[in-house]
Amino acid sequence: MKIGIFGGTLNPIHFGHLRSAEEAMEAFALDKVLFVPSAIPPFRKEDVASPNHRMEMARNVIEDNPHFDLSDIEVRRGGVSYSIDTVEALKKEASDIETYFIIGVDAFSEIGGWKDHRRFLSLCNFIIVNRPGYEKKSLGESLPLEVRSDFCYDAGKGCYMHPSGHSLNFLEVTLLDISSTDIRKRLKVGKSVKYLIPDKVEEYIKKHGLYK
Ligand code: ATP
Repeated sequence: MKIGIFGGTLNPIHFGHLRSAEEAMEAFALDKVLFVPSAIPPFRKEDVASPNHRMEMARNVIEDNPHFDLSDIEVRRGGVSYSIDTVEALKKEASDIETYFIIGVDAFSEIGGWKDHRRFLSLCNFIIVNRPGYEKKSLGESLPLEVRSDFCYDAGKGCYMHPSGHSLNFLEVTLLDISSTDIRKRLKVGKSVKYLIPDKVEEYIKKHGLYK
């Protein structure tokens, strides 16, 4: 089983998340993409809805796609959510899975500040998706020097390889200039968020009076 892991605050989940997960799934023939909303994000974020609300919003849309699943592993664990702990726990739960961590270039360019980033980068395959407003950086520009040297470009495979045998891949996905921050800003001033988030997410937000 090839499993994509799509982590994030998902505050709220939007079409940028969903479309890049869909394209990563297709490009890498993943059997499933597991969406993993964080409990407490490691980096300070504004106006974060409760983990339960973020889980429910994601659940509402993910259930429509047979290749998407929702994991409450970080919410159950509680506290600050570190991706390395999540990947390790998921691999322990099912030893026969091949894991692909899907991440936007914006987040990846800051990975040097993530918990145990050097070990994290050795633990699974990575799919780095582009995102409007964030220039695609080379691997050398994204990673601290000592970590960069852990990777070697494999021209035949068209990706970087780690001595652990895991690959690091850049994937061009359809650029959707959507962010949760922008959605929350629009909601705060009563502007429309139609066609930026699924209708079900919009209905949930209205019903529960989120992001006012
Ligand atoms: P916020 O604006 O609140 O910081 P966000 O829209 O960046 O939120 P996150 O939940 O922080 O969303 O992101 C989860 C993951 O999704 C990250 O890896 C991020 O890079 C990626 N991502 C978010 N929006 C897009 C997008 N429009 N296109 C591609 N990837 C995206």
